[in-house]
Amino acid sequence: MSDQKFVLAGVMGWPVAHSRSPVIHNHWIKQYGLNGAYVLLPVKPEKLEDAIRGLPALGFAGCNLTIPHKVSAMKLVDMVHPTAQRMGAINTIVVQPDGALHGFNNDGYGYLQSLKDAKPDWRADAGPALVLGAGGAARAVVLSLLDEGAPEVRLINRTRVKAQALADLFGERVKVLDWRDRNAAMAGAALLVNTTNQGMHGEPELDVVLDDLPVSALVSDAIYIPLETPLLAAARQRGNPTVNGLGMLLNQARPAFEAWFGVKPELSPALHLAIARTF
Ligand code: NAP
Repeated sequence: MSDQKFVLAGVMGWPVAHSRSPVIHNHWIKQYGLNGAYVLLPVKPEKLEDAIRGLPALGFAGCNLTIPHKVSAMKLVDMVHPTAQRMGAINTIVVQPDGALHGFNNDGYGYLQSLKDAKPDWRADAGPALVLGAGGAARAVVLSLLDEGAPEVRLINRTRVKAQALADLFGERVKVLDWRDRNAAMAGAALLVNTTNQGMHGEPELDVVLDDLPVSALVSDAIYIPLETPLLAAARQRGNPTVNGLGMLLNQARPAFEAWFGVKPELSPALHLAIARTF
């Protein structure tokens, strides 16, 4: 038997059975010949503090957090990384050598990296970005685009006050427009991002018309089930380059895996296949 230390990590959520994270991390554990496991951690909201505080005693290197724990976990850790603080949520905890719990949010990193993987010459400063939605995914997307140098983010949400709340937090490069103006707002955009749940499996498709969007604009969707949403299919058919949400999911897992297991993992066709098999 290997004398290599056994490293444990997992994903805390409620419910959590749907999470694809075990497939991703256990794929890498096997690929890199590591001694460890990544497990599902179904934790009810009222038990979150006990579960998080128990991580060091149980020998966990850390964990991911998913619905509904991303916001409430913030106040239960000892340090929150400044980026996560600005996003208002953490999706990763790393247990430090002294047992302290540090919180991070890698969703924005994952999003930007997914664009760079799909289109290596993509630049945030190429022009205005139009972001539809103002929930958790939008926070990560908008903040990462601003930090990467986007000159303007047009933010449009069905419920305008939620978009305004994000604009108030993130500053004057975020311009809030009405939901009814979403089609006209595509004129001159270099990037269109869907962060609503519209187009996800079981939901109606996103109600937009792409006629005013430049054909050079990159169109991305945070959704990864299905891999090609009706929005991405329509964009592809008129000639726009497209990026689905799987790259965001896979890339946000990389910094966490590196922090826990000490290896920076690469994305491979075999991993894409392993995930695709779960859909
Ligand atoms: P969320 O916080 O619940 O936000 C949902 C958003 O969808 C809100 O902006 C909401 O608008 C909008 N919406 C809901 N129904 C709508 C409708 N009928 N018409 C127009 N807008 C509608 O969810 P989230 O966590 O941000 O997730 C959003 C999507 O991103 C999901 O599909 C999720 O799977 C995906 N996601 C992907 C990744 C990844 O790694 N690829 C990561 C996170 C999330 P209102 O404010 O008006 O309700």
